[in-house]
Order: sequence, then structure tokens, then C-alpha cells
Amino acid sequence: MANRFTAYAATTGPGDLYLSNGGTDVFFDVLTLAGCHIAETPWQQNLVLLFADGHRYGRGFSGFDLSEIPWTADWPAEKSFLLRVLDVALTGHGWHRLRYDPSHIAGQLARYREMVAAFPPVPVEVSQWGDWRSAPAPALLTRCPEHDLYEGEAGCRLCDPSIQPNT
Ligand SMILES: [Zn+2]
Repeated sequence: MANRFTAYAATTGPGDLYLSNGGTDVFFDVLTLAGCHIAETPWQQNLVLLFADGHRYGRGFSGFDLSEIPWTADWPAEKSFLLRVLDVALTGHGWHRLRYDPSHIAGQLARYREMVAAFPPVPVEVSQWGDWRSAPAPALLTRCPEHDLYEGEAGCRLCDPSIQPNT
């Protein structure tokens, strides 16, 4: 099983990103570590919750297209934030909190950053993921005392033994 991350609206760019199920867990781990560190606005918090809860239920079906993100008229700032999350992740932010070495994800992170950079967002009227201008429920933003990550719907992903190595 694999998860496919796409950018269909981009006319140029490196194409799609395919990640194995294990690779997808790592991808969302490092994006959550970076995103929880810098998210401030409701839209930013909602994006980071997508990563925090990512690949927790739909194993092998958790890829998405960049056009599915609920971009608003403020999309230039929103795209900048997503690029910043990727940049912070690429610095290895918070990786010491992981029980495994995620460094093999760096190439895929860099490739995804290229995809995002080449992607032209269009504001989305109605999204399957709701209106990200509304603040998330406070309970979703509660932070795990051990890992400082959002609990989200599914609980802290670094505390979830089903997606973390046992060692
Ligand atoms: Zn935790």
C-alpha cells in the first residue's frame, strides 16, 4: 500500500509523491513536529491538525491533492506557511523526540516542497475539510505533555504505538 500526494493544478514541477505506509507515517510525524512549533492562526492550526491526524484511520488512503486544501483569498500567506512548515521540517526540528531516525524522509520533503512551490492555489468555496478560517475546537489543540504535539482527533501521534516503532 502507498499514499499518493499530488499537485494536479501545477503546470510544471516534479510530479507526484508516492510514499509507502511507513514513509507516510514519517512524513506526517515530521510535518506535525514542525507545524505545532509555528502554527498561530486558525487556518494554520487546521492545516497542522491535518498532519497530526494524518494516516491514522485511512491506512494507504491518506494521500491528497494540494487543490483539496481549503485555500482562501489569503492563499499567498497560506502557501507561505506550508512552505515554512516544510522548511522547518527540513531543519530536523523536533526529530530528537522521535524514537527512530527519520532522516531518510529528507529527500521526499524536499521534493514535496518543490511541488508546493510550483502549485498555484485557487480559493476553495466548500471543502470536505470544512472552513479553516474557523478556529479548531480547543480540545484538538491540547498538547501532549510528553511530545508537545496537538492531540487532534486521534491523540498525539508520537504516543500511538500503532504508528511508532517499539524500540
Ligand atoms: Zn505524545
